[in-house]
Amino acid sequence: RGETPAPPERHPRLTVLSGPSGVGKSTVVAHLRSVHPEVWLSVSATTRRPRPGEQHGVHYFFVDDEEFDKLIANGELLEWAEFAGNRYGTPRRAVLDKLEAGEPVLLEIDLQGARLVRSSMPEAQLVFLAPPSWDELVRRLTGRGTEAPEVIERRLSAARTELAAEEEFDVTLVNTSVEDVAAELLALL
Ligand code: 5GP
Repeated sequence: RGETPAPPERHPRLTVLSGPSGVGKSTVVAHLRSVHPEVWLSVSATTRRPRPGEQHGVHYFFVDDEEFDKLIANGELLEWAEFAGNRYGTPRRAVLDKLEAGEPVLLEIDLQGARLVRSSMPEAQLVFLAPPSWDELVRRLTGRGTEAPEVIERRLSAARTELAAEEEFDVTLVNTSVEDVAAELLALL
């Protein structure tokens, strides 16, 4: 009857994947993206030095302290946090553009960042990735082989505190198998 048809229903959704360092967040996300390249993942800025194989603009935007200061001062970060001596932040514009276009957005960030997103964007869905056990987490944190002992100790200490945060999250996924947990995460997006 000449009415403008309703636009197709869209479910823009911001999903935050967080959990202790070493629990396997980035492995899960990398697997998910290898199977579903259409899943859009925010690329963070960090002051950490690249690990072997990490590419600027793909895994992170690697910036120095001065550049990171500027990102903060210009309000370009949706959230940021200091983790194990480095700073990490989510570029705001790219995330908002995706959400405004009605597309799901995935952030893979630390617990402090997840809390900041919870308070600034209460509609965000917070997903906690839990290790199958504490022993398994220690094995993963010490087994990466790319970090100095004092860095590992700092990460273990952070992980102990971070495990207790599970109750603040909407959903918990236990990282028993990368394939399974990636599929569960996809279903939540
Ligand atoms: P890694 O140095 O192992 O790549 O990351 C260390 C921690 O920083 C991980 O827990 C990772 O999820 C988190 N992280 C990565 N990007 C961001 C970000 O943009 N914001 C926050 N708050 N944490 C991040």
